[in-house]
Amino acid sequence: MDLKTLIRDIPDFPKPGILFRDITTLLADSAGLRYTIDTMTEQCSHLEPDYVAGIESRGFMFGMPLAHNLGVGFVPIRKPGKLPAAVHSAEYELEYGTDRLEVHQDAFKPNSRVLIIDDLIATGGTAAATAKLVEQTACELAGFGFVVELTALEGRRKLPNAPIISLIQY
Ligand code: AMP
Repeated sequence: MDLKTLIRDIPDFPKPGILFRDITTLLADSAGLRYTIDTMTEQCSHLEPDYVAGIESRGFMFGMPLAHNLGVGFVPIRKPGKLPAAVHSAEYELEYGTDRLEVHQDAFKPNSRVLIIDDLIATGGTAAATAKLVEQTACELAGFGFVVELTALEGRRKLPNAPIISLIQY
């Protein structure tokens, strides 16, 4: 299946010069959704994670069904101030300023293998910050999985040494 036909390109969103790869059209297509989750499951199962960590918010949409299929737990990586118990935080650079991601300190059992999932990797800053969070929990990185990779931005160079899977490259 050619998933690119199900992803909608929106020029100049959220600001001029950005070509936004809109996955809502893929999510709404029953065959495309099934194919995406099945393919991610096939490509990620050999990584043998104990948990899938999904990055708010589009990482939740793909990470949760993937965790279900792999028979492992799901852990949400959230924007600041959303998680109720004690958290680890990691900051990352935006074009202007910084942002932060958080995870519950007790989210993973010690020494577990964690697979990080997001819809898309662009510059890699978001996924790299999530990897720093996993390091703080003393767990091991099983790898990274993305539906879309924007290869020209070389985001994978920002990530620590672990397997990286992407279903579609632009
Ligand atoms: P980055 O930290 O630069 O790798 O950006 C990744 C995050 O920003 C992901 O959560 C994406 O959903 C979102 N993102 C960045 N660039 C795009 C784009 N061109 N189209 C859609 N989403 C994007």
